[in-house]
Amino acid sequence: MSDNRLAELVTAALEAEFLDEIRFGSGGERPHTWASQWKLCGRAMALDLLHPEDRREVDAGACARMAWGNEFEIGVRTRLERAGRRSDPRFCVEGSQEHFRLHHRDDPSRVVLTGKIDGKIRIERDATPFEIKRGQSYRGCRTVADLLAGRWSASSVYQLLAYLLGMELPEGLLVVDSGDVPTLIPVLLDDHLDEAEAFWAAAETASECKHDGADLPDFSPNPEHCTGCDHRGKSCSPPWHNGEGPYITNDPDLVASIETVIGTKAAAKEHAREWERIKSLCRGKELVLIGSNTVTGKPSARGWKLTVESGPGAAAAPAVVATTPQKDRKSTGDSLPGGEARRAAVVAVEDGDFEKVHDIMEVEEDEIHLEELAHGWVVMKGRQRMTAGYATMMGASEAWQSQSGGP
Ligand code: SF4
Repeated sequence: MSDNRLAELVTAALEAEFLDEIRFGSGGERPHTWASQWKLCGRAMALDLLHPEDRREVDAGACARMAWGNEFEIGVRTRLERAGRRSDPRFCVEGSQEHFRLHHRDDPSRVVLTGKIDGKIRIERDATPFEIKRGQSYRGCRTVADLLAGRWSASSVYQLLAYLLGMELPEGLLVVDSGDVPTLIPVLLDDHLDEAEAFWAAAETASECKHDGADLPDFSPNPEHCTGCDHRGKSCSPPWHNGEGPYITNDPDLVASIETVIGTKAAAKEHAREWERIKSLCRGKELVLIGSNTVTGKPSARGWKLTVESGPGAAAAPAVVATTPQKDRKSTGDSLPGGEARRAAVVAVEDGDFEKVHDIMEVEEDEIHLEELAHGWVVMKGRQRMTAGYATMMGASEAWQSQSGGP
């Protein structure tokens, strides 16, 4: 199995593994808002409850990120437990996935916001809740202000604030992946009471929309909030006049351009996929002939530069030899044009679908010619086809000579 095929096979299996583990996570109906689901737009929070079907299918990449996040959380918690013994005063880690809930302020029987907390750090009588976060959006964040400035990282602050409200605690900790020692960011409820109250109120409104048929909150006043929103174009159609509106043109050149872009999208993907396949074959080789097409290679600053030409190659020939220089070969070297004998890497092409027969088959040319020419293979030295005289001397058949275009 080629390196590429093996990589594709294993990647597909990994994707299936991640999808199977996580996919169920965020789907389905919800009776109320989850603490981890804070959104910039209150309407989106209400629509999360009313239209869960709007949510995008979770792909393998998202599943993998969630799985790495879960594993990071377990690892950090274990480290915290062990680190407690080194602290003065000592601390311990307690409570895992402890539930909390917030009720509607006008109807204490109605739950509007729930969540599970990762744990608490206890020092004597004080227990401080913490939440562990990992992901690209948290990198470089060292303060609550940093977290609130990021669209995705901000939700972690609101999540912890909801815990503090629900548990009536003054302070929590966000434990954030920094790439090395995690960063611990304290979050004080008093400093962010307005944000905490706004999240609670938005969860109450979402519950009223879901269970009482209340009107949806207004569209977000900021069109940027709609970018990436699951509900946009489904259960929500925000008015365009929030922004400058679309730029409209019927310029025939641009219409032709966009039609070309759309029409060649699939072909471009196919091109990229097949080119990867060719590159993996040709990397490190100076010359490869595939059917009647020529691929030449040379070292470049970025590795190995390949150039493809349509012909002239071994059009009728079913095989290719690319070479690297070696010392002079005594017995038959003078029969090759150009003089210098070479070692050969042999690659076969059959019925338009190439496969590696020998990957860098480092054998003396004598062996190649005697064994392979009998099967009608063409041997190349640099860019030149081997002479018919040389082929004859090495025992190639008449049929091969005419097939390969020898004189
Ligand atoms: S599309 Fe915009 S206005 Fe509508 S729910 Fe999403 S963020 Fe809010």
